[in-house]
Amino acid sequence: MSRSVDVLVIGGGPGGSVAARRCAESGLRVLMIEKRQEIGAPVRCGEAIGAEATRAFIDLDPKWIDARITRFALCNAEGARAVLPSELTLVVNRKVFDLELARLAARAGAEVRARTQAEALVTDAQGNVSGARIRSLGAPEDIEARIVIAADGTESQAARWAGIKTVPALADLYVGLQYLICAPPGQWMPDVAEYHFGPSTAPSGYAWVFPKRDDTANVGLVLGGDRAVEGEARACLDRFVARRVPGASILSVVAGAIPVSGGLKQISTGGLLVVGDAAHQAEPMTGGGINLAMMAAELAAQTAIKALKNDDVSASALKAYDDAWHSRNGRQRAGLLRLRRLLAGMSEREYVDIIATLARQPADHMNHGQLMLAAFLRHPRLLLEARALVEIGMHLK
Ligand code: FAD
Repeated sequence: MSRSVDVLVIGGGPGGSVAARRCAESGLRVLMIEKRQEIGAPVRCGEAIGAEATRAFIDLDPKWIDARITRFALCNAEGARAVLPSELTLVVNRKVFDLELARLAARAGAEVRARTQAEALVTDAQGNVSGARIRSLGAPEDIEARIVIAADGTESQAARWAGIKTVPALADLYVGLQYLICAPPGQWMPDVAEYHFGPSTAPSGYAWVFPKRDDTANVGLVLGGDRAVEGEARACLDRFVARRVPGASILSVVAGAIPVSGGLKQISTGGLLVVGDAAHQAEPMTGGGINLAMMAAELAAQTAIKALKNDDVSASALKAYDDAWHSRNGRQRAGLLRLRRLLAGMSEREYVDIIATLARQPADHMNHGQLMLAAFLRHPRLLLEARALVEIGMHLK
C-alpha cells in the first residue's frame, strides 16, 4: 500500500505532537506515527518542566499536573541544602501529558497512528527525503511525504538514515535511572525539587527528588555516559534512595538515555527536519528536554509550512530551521555545556564546600550572580569558569 501526505512526523513524543499540530493547523495533510502501542507510555522521564515555557504549547491542566514547585534545593552528600526560589516548575504525569498533546494534534486535523514504526526513509531523484517505509500494526506501507519531521527521540534512526551524524560522545550522554517511590508523608517538601550533587552520589551527573504527591515522588539520577559502567546507575540510585528515603517502596522503574551534547550542528537536510532528543536539543546541563523539543518543533513546523508554500524543500531552504534554532539557543547552550563539564570535574570536597556556603546565604535577598560569587569565592579556578552561569542566569529546568 502507498499513500501521500504533506508532512510525515516520526515519533509521538512532545516534539512530534507539537510539530504535527502546528502543521495541521496551517491546513497541511499530516500523518504522525508512533511506534509504541500507547502514546506516553512507558514513561521515561523525571517529569519536571518549567510552567512558563510549557504554557506556550498547552493550557496548564490539573489533569496532568501532579505537583507545583516554587523552590529548588541544592544538596550535598553531607546533608547541607541551599533552598532557592525557582520559577514555577510543574511535575507532570507524562503519560497523560503526552497523550493530551497528541490529542491536540489529532483535533487540529493530523492523523495520529500508534504502533506504527518508520523502518527506512525514501529519497527522490534530487536526493531529498521524500517519504518513509513504515509498518503499521504489522503491515508494511509506503508513505510519500513532501517533508519528513524526525521526532523519534534518543533512539532516533531517521536522522542517521539521512546521513546526519547523530551518535554523541559517551561523555555527552546522560544515562538515567529513576524510581517512582512511595514513602510515608513528610519526607520531602511538596513544593521543593531537590538536586543532589557530588561524585559519591552521581558521578558526572546529579540525583533528584521531584515530589508528585505527599507520599509519592520521582527519585532518580543521571550519570555521565563515560562513568556509567554496567550496574553503576542502579548501585548509585539504590545507595541514594537508602540514604534519602530509607525503606521506600518502588512503584515503577524508568531507565533511559539523554544526549546532552549541546545539540547537533546539522538538524535538517533536503526534505527532512530533526527535532527534540533526536537533534540532541535537551538542555546540556540538566538533560531537561520536553519544552525544548516543543520549542524546536514549533520552529521546524514554521520552516516546513514556509517551504511547502514556496514549493522548495531543498536542504538550503530547510536550513532556515538550523539558523533559527542556533540563533535562539546557541549562546546559552554553549554556556551550559561548559558548566556541565565544569561540574563533572569537581571533587566531592568542592561540592560539599560550595553547597554548604550557599546554604548559609540569605538567598531571598541575593540574585544568582551574588549567590555564585559567594559560593565560588574560595575556589578561584571555579569562579573564573562559572562566569558562564552568571551570564546566562541559572535555570535548572
Ligand atoms: P520522545 O519523548 O523520546 O519521543 C520520541 C518518540 O518517538 C517515542 O515515543 C518513540 O517511541 C518514538 N519513535 C522512535 N523511533 C520511532 C520510529 N522509528 N517510528 C515511530 N516512532 C518512533 N526532560 C524534562 O524536560 N524534564 C525532566 O524531568 C526529564 N527527566 C528525564 C529523566 C530521564 C531518566 C530521561 C531518560 C529523560 C528525561 N527528560 C526530562 C528528557 C525528556 O524525556 C526528553 O527530552 C523528551 O521526551 C524529548 O521529547 P521528544 O519528543 O524529542 O522525544
